[in-house]
Amino acid sequence: MKLVFERSRPGAHCDILPPCDVPKAELNAPLRAAPPRLPELAEVDISRHYTRLAGEAHGVNDGFYPLGSCTMKYNPRVNEEAAALPGFTGLHPLQPVETVQGALEALCTAEKLLCEITGMDAMSFQPAAGAHGEFAGLLLIKAWHHSRGDTARRKILIPDAAHGTNPASAVMAGYDVVSIPSDETGCVDLAKLREAVGPDTAGLMLTNPNTVGLFDGNILEITRIVHDAGGLCYYDGANLNAVMGIARPGDMGFDVVHLNLHKTFSTPHGCGGPGAGPVGCRQFLAPFLPGDRAVEDGDGFTLEQSTASVGQVKAFYGHFLVVVRALAYLLTLGREGIPEAAQNAVLNANYLMTLLKEDYDMAFTEGVMHEFVMTLEGLKKETGVSAMDIAKGLLDHGIHPPTMYFPLIVHEALMVEPTETESRATLEEAAAVFRGLLKQARTDPEALHRAPERTCVGRLDEVGASRSPRLRYRFDG
Ligand SMILES: *Cc1c(COP(=O)(O)O)cnc(C)c1O
Repeated sequence: MKLVFERSRPGAHCDILPPCDVPKAELNAPLRAAPPRLPELAEVDISRHYTRLAGEAHGVNDGFYPLGSCTMKYNPRVNEEAAALPGFTGLHPLQPVETVQGALEALCTAEKLLCEITGMDAMSFQPAAGAHGEFAGLLLIKAWHHSRGDTARRKILIPDAAHGTNPASAVMAGYDVVSIPSDETGCVDLAKLREAVGPDTAGLMLTNPNTVGLFDGNILEITRIVHDAGGLCYYDGANLNAVMGIARPGDMGFDVVHLNLHKTFSTPHGCGGPGAGPVGCRQFLAPFLPGDRAVEDGDGFTLEQSTASVGQVKAFYGHFLVVVRALAYLLTLGREGIPEAAQNAVLNANYLMTLLKEDYDMAFTEGVMHEFVMTLEGLKKETGVSAMDIAKGLLDHGIHPPTMYFPLIVHEALMVEPTETESRATLEEAAAVFRGLLKQARTDPEALHRAPERTCVGRLDEVGASRSPRLRYRFDG
């Protein structure tokens, strides 16, 4: 496919600006030696270019997208309608508060509902992604220890099944990471946790259900062990799809939580952003929350920043229109719909796993929640076909691959998360495709090594793309 620069035709343009009706100002010195080399295209060419590009990507509106841990659920159109209301899109963040009461109310309502779902007392919408929320949450933990004069706590404990962003955020926040092994059931090894805690423990970061899709039944004991050692407990709530409206991190003993509105609360992921990773906490940590927060004030709403705040982690109130989308989702589903969505997410994962477990080896089958992990180690030994080959094979059938080679504690892992928005028919069709690929692995493994063959590009050089990426257009000469 041609790049937008290659489609450029000198002189082509879109006439969208009205004629200039004010005197031209002359600059003393030109700001640039030469005009920028922007592509020159007519509006129709631009429109076709981006439509063609969009058609070559696989989105949740194109087909099944069971990307484990990422919760690629359908994003209802009504969210977009709400976020497109001119009363929201036409605002400036520096407008006087009395002119933006509706927007502040939207933030307050979203905060109230999400606090109710998580069992937290306060929340900031500043963080723009899950990892960003983790970082902000760890700053809260640090600020709290320091406010009490306790600066000896340098370690964050993280189970080995954790999402990669957890240790990365801990290091960014200036902590040393201690990895806690999982036991044979896929959950935290309590004995190892007891050995690891001590006066240097700042806190624990944990996802429950964890990244192998299992709910850790020892969670109350886990958070008690950390609290008894003087640490705080951080809940990675990026993916709350299995438990929203059913079990609350606050009741499990957690002090800080982040959520990914772009996973659980049906806002678009959009190539890594704009997302929203709000960070919530219990009351004693609220003074440390980042940025200004909308609060109720008598009959209306106002903005408040605590003097103990860890500061800004993003401009103003984060990605406000993403919060509006999530609020539309929360209000659409309501108190009954939220837990029902969670139950269906768990049901769908278990149904698809059950359809596949005769044919594919599952890493764990007991207590599986919203996602399940299969291991293709046996298949690879038998046929040479890897998890990667099966994932690429799925693309030829219009299915986005599951998450691959994660979690790290499972070899040749494929992690499948169907989400609640898929129908039974879609799950059964997907199971048939998975089974077909298994058959192909045994009869014609070469074909799977070559897959995908029906997509616009074949197998990409992933190492090259990450080690020496070409991120800008190179003009000739
Ligand atoms: C997706 C995810 C994250 C990171 O979220 P981003 O928005 O991609 O930064 C963190 N933890 C878990 C468990 C996740 O699934």
